[in-house]
Amino acid sequence: MNRRPRETRGAFTNRVRFMVVDEPSAHREFALPGSRLRYGPDKTVDVRHIDLYLRPDLERQHLDGVCTTTVRALDEPVSSLTLDAVDLQIASVEREERPMQFSADGRHLTIYLEPPLAPEEQTTFSIRYSVTNPRHGLFFVNNHAWTQSQDENARFWFPCLDYPHEKQTTSTAIDVPKGQFALSNGALVERRDDGDRSIYSYRQDVPHSTYLTTMVVGPFVEVAQPLERADGTELQIFYYVLPGREADGERSFGKTPRMVEVFEEKIGVRYPYARYSQIAVADFIFGGMENTSATTQTDRTLHDERAHLDFSSDPLVSHELAHQWFGDLLTCRDWSHAWLNEGFATYFEAVFREADLGYDEYVYDVFTFLERYLEEDSDRYRRPIVYNRFRDPIELFDRHLYEKGGAVLHMLRGELGETRFWRAIRRYAGDNVQRNVETIDLIRAIEQSTGRNLRGFFDQWVFRGGHPQLTVVLKYDEERKALTITIDQKQPVDASNPAYTFDVDLGIVTADERRMRVRVERAHETVTIPLDERPQVVRFDPGAFILADVTYEFGDRFAAAALAGDSNVAARIYAARELAKSGSASARAALDAAFTSDSFWGVLDQAAKALGKTHAPWARRLLTAHVHHKHPKVRRAIASALGSFKDSGAADVLVAIARDDESYFVRAAALHSLGKTRDVRAFDVLASAIAESSWNGTVESGAARGLGELGDARAIPLLIAATQPGRDETLRRAALDALARSGELIESERAGIVEAIADRLDDPMFLVQRSAIDAAERLADGRFLAALDRLSVSGFDGRVRRDCAEAAIRIRESQKVPAQVNGLRTDIDALREEQRKLQEQIESISRA
Ligand SMILES: [Zn+2]
Repeated sequence: MNRRPRETRGAFTNRVRFMVVDEPSAHREFALPGSRLRYGPDKTVDVRHIDLYLRPDLERQHLDGVCTTTVRALDEPVSSLTLDAVDLQIASVEREERPMQFSADGRHLTIYLEPPLAPEEQTTFSIRYSVTNPRHGLFFVNNHAWTQSQDENARFWFPCLDYPHEKQTTSTAIDVPKGQFALSNGALVERRDDGDRSIYSYRQDVPHSTYLTTMVVGPFVEVAQPLERADGTELQIFYYVLPGREADGERSFGKTPRMVEVFEEKIGVRYPYARYSQIAVADFIFGGMENTSATTQTDRTLHDERAHLDFSSDPLVSHELAHQWFGDLLTCRDWSHAWLNEGFATYFEAVFREADLGYDEYVYDVFTFLERYLEEDSDRYRRPIVYNRFRDPIELFDRHLYEKGGAVLHMLRGELGETRFWRAIRRYAGDNVQRNVETIDLIRAIEQSTGRNLRGFFDQWVFRGGHPQLTVVLKYDEERKALTITIDQKQPVDASNPAYTFDVDLGIVTADERRMRVRVERAHETVTIPLDERPQVVRFDPGAFILADVTYEFGDRFAAAALAGDSNVAARIYAARELAKSGSASARAALDAAFTSDSFWGVLDQAAKALGKTHAPWARRLLTAHVHHKHPKVRRAIASALGSFKDSGAADVLVAIARDDESYFVRAAALHSLGKTRDVRAFDVLASAIAESSWNGTVESGAARGLGELGDARAIPLLIAATQPGRDETLRRAALDALARSGELIESERAGIVEAIADRLDDPMFLVQRSAIDAAERLADGRFLAALDRLSVSGFDGRVRRDCAEAAIRIRESQKVPAQVNGLRTDIDALREEQRKLQEQIESISRA
């Protein structure tokens, strides 16, 4: 799964932050009240095959189905079998055309086998069922319908054993009105017309987990783009979009054949399914979903030529394609090991980027994975990547699972070296085809293919939460002729949180580069290297492999040299951050030079952010001087950073960019920043921009965010209007964020703002609802608590339930405990206890 298109991710910034005390336990608990340890269930049968006949009725939002399942008993006789089947109306269950006894309670369907199935005996039974207005799993949107089964929602649209460890072959016949298209898993076996109906029959011969089953129905058109491999074989690749979006579809999905080639080569296992289709649907609740051979993608990723300037669907497309191996062919045995799906798919976004655009882009991708994980760790909670204490498995699908998982694989590449890393990946993939995997399977594949025992590595980075917080200090002593490098682990270190242990490469550049590897084991390490002359550049971790929050204290001279001369993107970024903080004349000159000479946009993106954080007039002048940089992503970063300067000089520049830039995203960033400057011209510019109609509401969203920053009561009605149903989804979400911001700024408008946000807490658009929850949390207003408590139990999606529970906890904390007071652990614990009790009460009420 991809949570949402990359450019619009980032919901968890601006959380209410209440720092208790600066110690390891100050990181929030991941497990919410009501969490328990989860394990996959026992098995009594092996499901061999599921055959589905599906007849969806789009107008009535109804599905009639027949689910015919073949099971084989394991080692004991089986007299009853309980399937997951939520809200399904069961009409009959038959075995060899004879009715069977069954009972259904709205959550499960129990079938009684008389006589019992003997060990290893196989049987087939058919369940005739229907469902109207399903709560989850099957969604009817306008003129089409799609399913979403991950993590455990197949049970809302067909009866099944709904766990990832259950793999079976499937066949699907979808009966639709003539003129409609239907997609499911595997080969298209037949498409036949029957009167005014068409029946599409698919067959998936490679066993796959239940959650990977799909059905999409609607008036889609097909675009074919086959891959002809070098060995003469062909893979059929299709894109399906609603009529009129064909060109956007090709623009968005056009690199898929190339991705297949890259991944087959890297993974050493051929693409495993009969064909590969991507279908773009409306109101999708994720970015994409990797159903075997038939990925569902959000239609928000379809984009026009102008958006293509600085927006790409490649991360989403490569992520879902990588899942066809990691997730689909090899599937986590239970959700606690879901990083074997998501960490891998995230990492392979960067792998494709490297093959397509080069090593700098790869490193910058991994760098952003790290940044995003660090943000979640500091703002939200800390947990080990492999973790099995939760309420809903979907809670695990966070930045620890995706981004930290991806960053761990990058570090593993550094640990093993290029050849051994890819050999290990191929061994892991090759040995586990069609199997369910746990992390130990990866550890074993590494051991078998390279001899390396990395149990310690995995204990530290995967089975333990957190990361080292490193400060690296450089000093060259002219008199002693020695270079000293100190590496401090600033995170709290004690018996239960030992210092991290890792090897790090150092590069000392004089006339040539000398490489050495040092072992870091203690919280404070010092390396002294005799050197006759001062080195030009000193490189710490030149591959940027170490998963850590790193700060350089190199001094201006070394930092400037690194920014100008280090070949690694991450090193240049850390140097730029140090120089921005310094602000000395030489630091400014080095930064200015970088904007002219650095060939990689990512370094300048980060440099602009660091300059914005200084709030210094010199930094504003420097940014303004480069505001017409040729790369739109650099212009976007500069426009964002200029929002830190509340002066008319910044506003002058922003007004011009907001009007003229060819990129939607640059304009949006400029509008947002213009609001922050509170310039007198801002309101009129923003009020006019929020009425535009640009791709995915991008420009309007920037205007909404800008209006939120103005602290001007005239903005409130514009923002409330922008949250209404019918407006663009992205705009609605931005307007909710902006309303929360306005609520912080204008006390007198708070009541109306609270009401407008509360109105959207039950919004049927999933992402809008989540933005409303974020906004409620940010305002920390007690008036939201009743709705949040209700939704934390009854919300339709596990993510909604989790967000509401977290928001309610934080609002209660912020209301009862004055912020910025240390040493209040007992009060916090008491509050958590109170929250837990309340939660139990709510749960007992809802059970009753
Ligand atoms: Zn994914």
